[in-house]
Amino acid sequence: MGLTELTITQAHAGLVKKEFSALELCQAYLDKIEKENEKIFAFLTVVKNSALSQAKKIDEMISQKREIPLLAGIPCAIKDVILVEGIRCTAGSKILENYIAPYDATVIKKLKEQNAVILGKTNLDEFAMGSSTENSAFGPTKNPHDLTRVPGGSSGGSAAAAAGNLCVYALGTDTGGSIRQPASFCGVVGLKPTYGAVSRYGLMAFASSLDQIGPITKTVEDAKIVFEAISGKDPLDSTSVESKIENCKLKSKKVPSSPPSLRRSVIENLRIGVPKEYFIKGMEPEVEKIIKKAIKKYEEMGAKIEEISLPHTEYALPCYYIIAPSEASANLARYDGIKYGLSVSKGKDLLDVYLKSREEGFGAEVRRRIMLGTYALSAGYYEAYYLRAQKVRTLIKNDFEKTFEKVDAIFTPVSPTPAFKLGEKIGDPLTMYLSDIFTVSVNLVGLPAISFPCGKVGKLPVGLQIIGKPFEEEKILAIGKILEVDELRSSSPFANARVKS
Ligand code: GLN
Repeated sequence: MGLTELTITQAHAGLVKKEFSALELCQAYLDKIEKENEKIFAFLTVVKNSALSQAKKIDEMISQKREIPLLAGIPCAIKDVILVEGIRCTAGSKILENYIAPYDATVIKKLKEQNAVILGKTNLDEFAMGSSTENSAFGPTKNPHDLTRVPGGSSGGSAAAAAGNLCVYALGTDTGGSIRQPASFCGVVGLKPTYGAVSRYGLMAFASSLDQIGPITKTVEDAKIVFEAISGKDPLDSTSVESKIENCKLKSKKVPSSPPSLRRSVIENLRIGVPKEYFIKGMEPEVEKIIKKAIKKYEEMGAKIEEISLPHTEYALPCYYIIAPSEASANLARYDGIKYGLSVSKGKDLLDVYLKSREEGFGAEVRRRIMLGTYALSAGYYEAYYLRAQKVRTLIKNDFEKTFEKVDAIFTPVSPTPAFKLGEKIGDPLTMYLSDIFTVSVNLVGLPAISFPCGKVGKLPVGLQIIGKPFEEEKILAIGKILEVDELRSSSPFANARVKS
């Protein structure tokens, strides 16, 4: 297997056993990026020199026989909405085209403590608003499985980088599905953590009550490793909480594989809920078939499958599209042409500078969201829209709470279709919004969920979503791993890696 096809555990083992050096590993990815980024356009910025000098440091540690953490020397990619000190951070927007991050986000600090090798920053929909990465001011990312199709969004650059072997793993963010949907479209694993499990300090805010940072990886096991490294309470984010999972942080730890007894202990007495509202008209029949087949496999392995109802599901999307733009309109008020980034100085007065900078700096979708949000929050409409949406959010939360009294996890599709064609939905925002129909509820309620590949329509991957109770990331990852190891030997692009790890 080539160096660019390794999982985290494999790369770590190779480094420790000196099968290859961190420098060779890093160079292999830089070469691959050099060769392929032009066509996939996953990266907006590549930081070759700092990646190589970091890799050199790891080699020194290894040669001094020092124990290295699991993520040490492993090349990764970071969504360009997460600050990495000294590196440009654009949020996919013209307004921040030349903005240099003045400090590290907490997740980056944590990765650096593990001596991770950061290769660069990945493309995204402007300010993470979108489902296809076509809203990037710098051009769309392409799906490595089919270059005429979108990689999903908004973390499309991160998902495409992982799927195209341009990095071992990536960080994305998920406000309404932006880790899970691109992971599904690109055939990789995405974890949206419980709200508060991962610090948002140093993440450019889109909708603060919904945003979470999470891993995009090639295997479920890798998602667990990265999640453990980045999660935990942070005094700089008051919404963050201590994770129940013991952090592996600076220690190198063996990751247990999934022997039959472990598998049995996960599946035994497992109650899986399948919400009837998630199998809707308009869903692609092939996708439905693949999801149902995956669910059936869990049943055959001994899990108890129950049809459940989440009756307020139909209101989740409209509720999300009031709350997310409202929060975004407030969060994006800071981009005024004075404090950050682009400034159009030819205005006749200060207000004119604000207006012109924002008009020139923001793209169409961002402006649409700011207008929607400002309207929903304005005097006279606040009660009718924002407040009402918050009440609906509570009803959706109650649906899940009631359901989780009866089941341990909920299985659903991630998206009604596989990756769509570039340009297919960009002219019709409402159709684009519909691709989030199965993912937004999870953010409204703050739950953890993973997306991982469970089949293909032609050459296009399809993901299964497993939603868990708050802070039960470990459980949903363990459930996902069972199907991954057992069923994907032949169909996954990373099949060898998955089976061997
Ligand atoms: N596609 C959704 C939106 O456009 C979700 C975005 C996200 O999760 N960042 O808002």
